[in-house]
Amino acid sequence: MTSVLEVRSVTVRFGETIALDDVNLTVESGEEVAILGPSGCGKSTLLRVVAGLQPVDEGTVLWDGEDIGSMPPHLRIFGLMFQDDALFPHLDVGDNVGFGLKMAGWDRSRIRTRVEEMLDLVGLEDFVERSVDRLSGGEAQRVALARTLAPEPRLIMLDEPLGSLDRLLRDRLVVDIGKILDETGIPSLYVTHDHEEAEAVAQTVALMRTGRIVQTGTFDDLRANPADQWVADFVR
Ligand code: ADP
Repeated sequence: MTSVLEVRSVTVRFGETIALDDVNLTVESGEEVAILGPSGCGKSTLLRVVAGLQPVDEGTVLWDGEDIGSMPPHLRIFGLMFQDDALFPHLDVGDNVGFGLKMAGWDRSRIRTRVEEMLDLVGLEDFVERSVDRLSGGEAQRVALARTLAPEPRLIMLDEPLGSLDRLLRDRLVVDIGKILDETGIPSLYVTHDHEEAEAVAQTVALMRTGRIVQTGTFDDLRANPADQWVADFVR
């Protein structure tokens, strides 16, 4: 496997706070990586750096070996989905999913085909004309995922995408999201503070603590050879 994304020695400070402290991370082609750690450890800041939304104090980001540190977000062709990723209330499900494609100038028939494909992928094939205020929380997040995937991003980043849903629904949806990401083959970064969620969705985990990645590997690696007691306790 070849490494597509490389975060190299990135440091981000907010005044006295060191949000990211010399962070290194690679993502291979088609790999799903969970960024796991307690609240405030720097997970969202790391995603924002990769997305191009957060300037760095030191270090850079490479894509396919090319330094994209100064490339504006829209040229990176990365998809980003948040916890409360609001759908456009005045548009139906199909138009929500097709929104980015319309903005990118895709023609109508190509948009229709892609929207159908994406709704099929997230298991909502009959929802094209559904109004978004008639969706359950889980359905809304599936639509948001379809909307993020529609423009064929070369990397997808999800920031606590299921955080606002109840536990039962989360457990079900996280497995579905893992399968959907597998199916697309698009490399992904999945931010969560919940190690069960991370394990359900990703093969690799980068465990963070106070701005640093303390260990990277599979969950089995982390459990078998934890870097320290804190890691052992966190993944137990
Ligand atoms: P996480 O996503 O793991 O909860 P964040 O990346 O949001 O963590 O935050 C990491 C640290 O940086 C925290 O201490 C947070 O308070 C701080 N931080 C994040 N964004 C800002 C900002 N825009 N201004 C000041 N401090 C920030």
